[in-house]
Amino acid sequence: MLVLKSISDVKKEIKKYKKQELKIGLVPTMGALHEGHESLIKAACDSCDVVVVSIFVNPIQFGPGEDYERYPRTLDKDIKVCEKYGVDLIFAPQPSDMYGYEKHQMTLVVPPECLRAKLCGKSRTQHFDGVDTVVLKLFNITEADEAFFGLKDAQQCVIVKRMCDDLNVNIKLNFCPIIREEDGLAKSSRNTYLSEDGRRKALALSKALNSVKELYKEGIVSIDEIKEKVMPELSKSADVEYFEFCSFNDLSPVMFLSENTLVALAARVDGVRLIDNIVL
Ligand code: AMP
Repeated sequence: MLVLKSISDVKKEIKKYKKQELKIGLVPTMGALHEGHESLIKAACDSCDVVVVSIFVNPIQFGPGEDYERYPRTLDKDIKVCEKYGVDLIFAPQPSDMYGYEKHQMTLVVPPECLRAKLCGKSRTQHFDGVDTVVLKLFNITEADEAFFGLKDAQQCVIVKRMCDDLNVNIKLNFCPIIREEDGLAKSSRNTYLSEDGRRKALALSKALNSVKELYKEGIVSIDEIKEKVMPELSKSADVEYFEFCSFNDLSPVMFLSENTLVALAARVDGVRLIDNIVL
């Protein structure tokens, strides 16, 4: 397995793969790999000849006061995880390898406001232009035939898909299910920030989403009614930033639950910002 930092070294390897007409799969990550990431790597290994995992804590998707400096960086451990699955190449650049300019001086891929200003974009206003920009760069550097993303970041999936549609990016996108801890908490690199008490409280997110699923099964589809039933328990443990119901196609708000409704939640527990969602 190769671990490369420089874009030109990666491009040299990619050229070799392309010459052999191998199908390249890309798994973009920020590292601190856990079983959620591993599920994407497994999916990539199953459907591609060559698997590239990028590990890059992307500075331009963090806003001021967010956790860019604090974000866990565990490259040695991540390398071992990738080796276990037979990953071919890890691309682990430094910010200076990826960006020659400050964010305000560079060409950015900016998603439409109707997608970027919703859900997480309400508090993280510059987040998704940072995401789309790095994702398009990674697609171009690796010339991947397929890319693998987790539904844990559902808004990111919708936004990356729209970028590929709008800019005719020639890649197959795969969206993989959320991997959870046994008790339901969605796996996340940020779970390591939680105290023992916070870890217990954090369960309120997946519990709230499960309650929505149960109510939907019982035939309750009014969002006002559902919020009324679910919010009190959720707010006991978590400081809710948003709890929203929208179409998974274009994030437009819905009044009633139906198939393909994205139920998305962001909340702070002990000051740690967590997100979770379900798609009905
Ligand atoms: P990150 O390293 O947090 O940027 O995540 C890299 C990729 O892994 C993204 O596509 C995430 O959606 C995905 N991912 C993160 N956590 C999970 C999870 N619990 N289940 C499935 N995919 C995940």
